[in-house]
Amino acid sequence: MSFDYIIVGAGSAGCVLANRLSANPATRVCLIEAGPADRNPMIHMPFGLAALAHMRWLNWGHETDAEAQLHHRRLFWPRGRVLGGSSSINAMIYMRGHPQDYRDWARLAGPDWDWPRVRAIFKDHEDNLALRDDHHGQHGPLTVSDLAQPNPLSRAFVRAGVESRLAENPDFNGTSQEGVGLYQVTQRGGRRLSSAQAFLVPVLDRPNLTLITKAQVHRVAFEGRRATGVQLRDQTLPLAQGGEVILSGGAINSPQLLMLSGIGPGAHLQAMDIPVLHDAPEVGANLADHLDITVQAALKGREAIGIAPGFLPRALRATWAYLLRGQGEFTSNVAEAGGFARSDPSRERPNLQFHFIPAYLHDHGRRLSLGYGLTLHVCDLLPKSRGRISLATPDPMAHPRINANYLADPEDLPTLLAGLKLARRILNAPALACYVATETLPGARLVSDADLKADIRTRAETIYHPVGTCRMGLDAGSVTDPEGRVRGTEGLRVVDASLMPQIIAGNTNAPTMMIAETIARRILRQTPAT
Ligand SMILES: Cc1cc2nc3c(=O)[nH]c(=O)nc-3n(C[C@H](O)[C@H](O)[C@H](O)COP(=O)(O)OP(=O)(O)OC[C@H]3O[C@@H](n4cnc5c(N)ncnc54)[C@H](O)[C@@H]3O)c2cc1C
Repeated sequence: MSFDYIIVGAGSAGCVLANRLSANPATRVCLIEAGPADRNPMIHMPFGLAALAHMRWLNWGHETDAEAQLHHRRLFWPRGRVLGGSSSINAMIYMRGHPQDYRDWARLAGPDWDWPRVRAIFKDHEDNLALRDDHHGQHGPLTVSDLAQPNPLSRAFVRAGVESRLAENPDFNGTSQEGVGLYQVTQRGGRRLSSAQAFLVPVLDRPNLTLITKAQVHRVAFEGRRATGVQLRDQTLPLAQGGEVILSGGAINSPQLLMLSGIGPGAHLQAMDIPVLHDAPEVGANLADHLDITVQAALKGREAIGIAPGFLPRALRATWAYLLRGQGEFTSNVAEAGGFARSDPSRERPNLQFHFIPAYLHDHGRRLSLGYGLTLHVCDLLPKSRGRISLATPDPMAHPRINANYLADPEDLPTLLAGLKLARRILNAPALACYVATETLPGARLVSDADLKADIRTRAETIYHPVGTCRMGLDAGSVTDPEGRVRGTEGLRVVDASLMPQIIAGNTNAPTMMIAETIARRILRQTPAT
């Protein structure tokens, strides 16, 4: 059996593509996912996110190289390896980014990526249950809702932000991005709405759509420069004549797959004994991510979600409320509130984002902490440092190398330092301070800029938004053209977060689904209807 489209990776982008491309019954679409189906109940119960960090079989569990500016630490980079991809393990925050992000994209990759066009697609995707105005859509497959039961500490964070002279913002995707507020989430009926649940599951009964799970693609098969299919461990899936392979493996795996297939920096491929099909120096380059630092506090009371004997009755009530009504504390997406601010007033737009968690969070949830605490994250939204994905070995089952190159640009550390100070100011504002027993991190004894910079180098982590490693662009040096077509090849596209020509100032799930929709519409316009 051969296919018109073989999509590699059923993540945020892959599920949107599978839906849109298989809408034409004459088109045979195959979606291949390395991970299993999304049956684990912890995926669907939003607070299950805290347990997912321990489930290594649903996660690629990448690690960076020793990061030179972070005391040579290797950072954990979780990525979903399951139906829905990272949208099955993420924090469900619905965020589009700043209009200026897309004006920049339009300059780099053409008018399809300009704000008015992408805004229309965001609205088409959206089924916003709470916000009904011109900024939002009501009829799309992606349900966006307010949190069912925000923790009182999350509301206190918002008040503390206002006391710290930030504006209260009821809609980060509305008139203005700036300010503090509760986040809206991709949930329906109190359950996670991953890209798989929103876009794929409703159309799985289409006879022209084949889903294969637990199958990792090793490389793209070629005849000359034309893609002819994909190689799995012990078989090749062929494309029909004129068909296309679409890589949607995410910002780490898509450049890895290109390089395994002979498309990438020539000298690097030769060093790996991989025949060079197309020398493309930028494959894997341009890696950008949001580096993040936290302030943490131990609390006087028991308002937080905590691991403590006294929490057990609350946990039972929460489980019951979730199972019976899709309500209660376990509908929490953990990162309930947050907002956007400028590291200094001369900035044209916000370059810091907060994520507030009414709980302790250590080591991405992999290390449990007893007691009741809170964690306030702040990240640099517009970092200048750029890293690279490269191959560690030619073995497709091995992890690629990730050099995030955090803080390599001298402007990035001062931005994060300003963010850390602002986060501390919010923690010390009366509305939050009244809950706090002690600041545990960075800890009261760290005050000077030198100490706080050292603390950032010791503790900073990813907030999970790597992008840009198969940059699309108008220029010949870009990895793909503005429609994701890989330069130097035929019948091969990349469509996922790796296409972003520049990192956006916000969370990356909805923008990745928007990218998939935009390119699917271009493809459909070029495909004859039946
Ligand atoms: C812990 C965490 C929290 C986050 N929180 C948020 C949030 O709250 N809001 C937000 O907007 N964004 C969030 N993000 C980011 C967002 O989820 C991602 O940017 C987005 O999901 C990326 O989509 P993608 O399609 O590029 O990749 P993915 O969704 O990661 O999909 C890639 C898919 O391809 C599969 N795959 C890879 N290689 C192969 C192969 N060789 N063969 C077959 N299949 C393969 C993978 O298993 C995966 O299913 C978070 C991310 C993480 C990890």
